[in-house]
Amino acid sequence: MPGTNPRDLGLLADCASCFGLCCVALPFSASADFAIDKDAGRPCPNLDDGFRCSIHAQLRGRGFAGCTVFDCFGAGQKVSQVTYEGRSWREAPGTARQMYAVFPVMRQLHELLWYLAEALGLEAARPVHGPLRRALEETDRLTRESADVLEKLDVAAHRAEVNELLLKTSELARAGLNGRERRGADLIGARLKGAGLRGANLRGAYLIGADLRGADLRRADLIGADLRGADLSRADLTGAIFLTQAQVNAAKGDPATRLPATLTRPDHWTAAPGGRPRPARRPGG
Ligand code: SF4
Repeated sequence: MPGTNPRDLGLLADCASCFGLCCVALPFSASADFAIDKDAGRPCPNLDDGFRCSIHAQLRGRGFAGCTVFDCFGAGQKVSQVTYEGRSWREAPGTARQMYAVFPVMRQLHELLWYLAEALGLEAARPVHGPLRRALEETDRLTRESADVLEKLDVAAHRAEVNELLLKTSELARAGLNGRERRGADLIGARLKGAGLRGANLRGAYLIGADLRGADLRRADLIGADLRGADLSRADLTGAIFLTQAQVNAAKGDPATRLPATLTRPDHWTAAPGGRPRPARRPGG
């Protein structure tokens, strides 16, 4: 029976054990986050022969801020070392197409494992711990299936089943807080400085570029919320649920931002004004 520690479940990216899958399998469009266009399945020109990023220390300055945000939840090393038993797409080019197809499926499964593990750590969710535990075991089992099974897996259907449990978990965790109902809300660029959003339902909300400085987001449900460029300086996210490192990495913040204990403060939040920020841990880096 798997535990619920993200490290034990292999949910922390270990780029040294991965074949640079996010740098090959995924497409990019030239934008503020990526300096170049890249098709899915084509290796990024910055990926070196050892599956490391040759510009790891300069990603943001070189126009690849998006690379400092992405988190595979450990899917890269699972596909590389478990599904394909350590044989890379360079060693066995015939496996490349399927390996690139399996990677995003595995990433979704690992993301679900992350949420399920978090839910199982919430005392308020005790009434649904049984079904949550079974969902975690089933999801973990799926991650160990063969490449053929994973490629054909209806991951959307599995995701929908798990989501019902996560919704119930969210209701239990936020019960009695009278949080605002803003599920899926368009809050792009919203002025929410100092807002009282404790226990709010912000599932899937669009908070791109929102001013959340000093906002109270304790116990808010932030699953799937788009926080790109949102300013979380001095905001309190203690106990916020279903918040991921990728969401935090995509936002702005400062040393006074309070985060859930499972997440780490991005290095670019603490860079000296005018100085070159150090990139967060990065796939391929
Ligand atoms: S981390 Fe480096 S090698 Fe990977 S996609 Fe970004 S720039 Fe390319």
